[in-house]
Amino acid sequence: MSKADKILAWYGQNRRYLPWRSAPGVRANSYHVWLSEIMLQQTTVVTVKPYFEYFLAAWPNINVLAAAPLDDVLHAWQGLGYYARARNLHKCANIVTAEYDGYFPEDEKDLLKLPGIGPYTAAAIAAIAFGKKTTPVDGNIERVVARLFSVTEPIPKSKAKLQELACAMTPDDRAGDYAQALMDIGATICIPKKPMCDLCPLSGECKAEAKGIVGDLPVRAPKRNKPTRVGIIFWLSNNKGEILLRRRPEKGLLGGMIELPSSDWQENRSPLKKIFKNAPAKVAWQLLPGKVRHTFTHFHLELEVATGKCLEPELIKGIWSNASNFGNYALPTVMKKVAAHALKYKN
Ligand code: SF4
Repeated sequence: MSKADKILAWYGQNRRYLPWRSAPGVRANSYHVWLSEIMLQQTTVVTVKPYFEYFLAAWPNINVLAAAPLDDVLHAWQGLGYYARARNLHKCANIVTAEYDGYFPEDEKDLLKLPGIGPYTAAAIAAIAFGKKTTPVDGNIERVVARLFSVTEPIPKSKAKLQELACAMTPDDRAGDYAQALMDIGATICIPKKPMCDLCPLSGECKAEAKGIVGDLPVRAPKRNKPTRVGIIFWLSNNKGEILLRRRPEKGLLGGMIELPSSDWQENRSPLKKIFKNAPAKVAWQLLPGKVRHTFTHFHLELEVATGKCLEPELIKGIWSNASNFGNYALPTVMKKVAAHALKYKN
């Protein structure tokens, strides 16, 4: 029995039942595969399940999702983080609807041209929804393959080799089941700490198991320390007690999300005089005690909050909202933390 046959036989008996999956041997709905794969980028299956079900209930197919207002999609995405993914999701839905009549292209190269779809997601859709012979390789699969073939070069340097090894095992038929089986083995058996080799269909073939070095693999290059950036948030209220919100620029971090106005986020804080000069209003700003901390993929952020009262709100561009209505806007987690911090001191 080949490794792939063993993997597929194991999948038939032991696969995870996930709402976006089809039965073994049956191609899955491409909209479901795409939606789940975008949601799963940097997020766990447990977190994604309720979001997937909500999206499917609200927007049962790609045409309906494309027609939805972007703000509704961003709002429904709240809590999944990395909002650029939600923006790309909406953009991609519009392209697939307009240019492909609502059907995803089956070819990996065409999938790769769509917003938000990188090599892993393109391979996942091509294999799982269209049965193409290709293999998506994520962190879980890298771990399984690194152990199976005892690859001792550190990741990320060994990524291409791990991809090659995973692809070389891919069967001609059922490439989608094979990929999902590897994902499941990585997520449930060949876990980072204390893998359960006695339950693994690859036990006996696994080089790391034979050498007794399972716990040492995969080797990862040491991570670089994340820098810390600092900034000041402007908590500006009007005479009705409403707070100024604004929309972030479409491009870049948290693109298009609603935020409390802020200074730039830099590694060193500029003098307060300069920061307040660029604030949304010329008022007597007062810094609240304490800081709000948040971590993004590439940096830590420390924010201080300055409060001020505006007497001519009509001169200021933005959205005035009662803090109790912030839930109506697509506020990213960092801004929710800032609001909680400010309200703690203002109440
Ligand atoms: S035998 Fe153990 S180390 Fe090897 S692939 Fe299976 S679970 Fe991972």
